[in-house]
Amino acid sequence: MAVNEEKYKAIIDELQQAGVTLVAVSKTKPAEDISALYALGQRDFGENYVQELVDKAASLPNDIRWHFIGHLQSNKVKYIAPFVQLIHGIDSLKLLTEVNKQAAKQGRVIDCLLQVHIATEETKFGLNEQELSEIAAHSATTQLTSVRVRGLMGMASFSDDAALVRNEFRSLKSLFDKYALSFGQWDILSMGMSGDYKMAMEEGSTMVRIGSLLFGERQKKAGYR
Ligand SMILES: *Cc1c(COP(=O)(O)O)cnc(C)c1O
Repeated sequence: MAVNEEKYKAIIDELQQAGVTLVAVSKTKPAEDISALYALGQRDFGENYVQELVDKAASLPNDIRWHFIGHLQSNKVKYIAPFVQLIHGIDSLKLLTEVNKQAAKQGRVIDCLLQVHIATEETKFGLNEQELSEIAAHSATTQLTSVRVRGLMGMASFSDDAALVRNEFRSLKSLFDKYALSFGQWDILSMGMSGDYKMAMEEGSTMVRIGSLLFGERQKKAGYR
């Protein structure tokens, strides 16, 4: 059995007690694995690839809340705009504006998170603070009425250095607090993965994205971990 049901029950208990939302990251995993957690009550699932998400959404129950957590290209927003629940990886004003446009076409308002680059590693996507403040300033003057920016998302360094990872989470939390009044409804801080979610919770996370602890290790593939 690929899905670790005991682990799921332990994690969901721990998170519910803390009031933290679990996004089960199912990228690269088959629909049967998602169904197994769905049967246990899980409804929030995260995917990184547009085509994979579209295929899975078509074949699985429609009360699943699909989170797009990967790097999103503007030209692909239209494929997920009809149904996506939350887009975690907004890393430019251009992308946010495109989500707004596609959401309007669907007659929807799409919830989004701004992804901030907190890791010392070079490879990860995300805004720096300057870019974040520019988006905040823009949103103060221009109403993007079909998106709702609900908070921030970040990925810490993939490192055994606990102090480093904790500092990165703290820097994200302090930005989250700093911009609390810039966007309206501001209530989601998406940080923490299989290896670091406990620490992320200690540092103020409201939403964790957990894959391999629930579904087992993924095949290694360039570009993600
Ligand atoms: C893959 C991925 C996760 C889950 O990673 P695990 O270490 O398997 O829990 C979380 N967030 C993002 C953005 C991811 O790409």
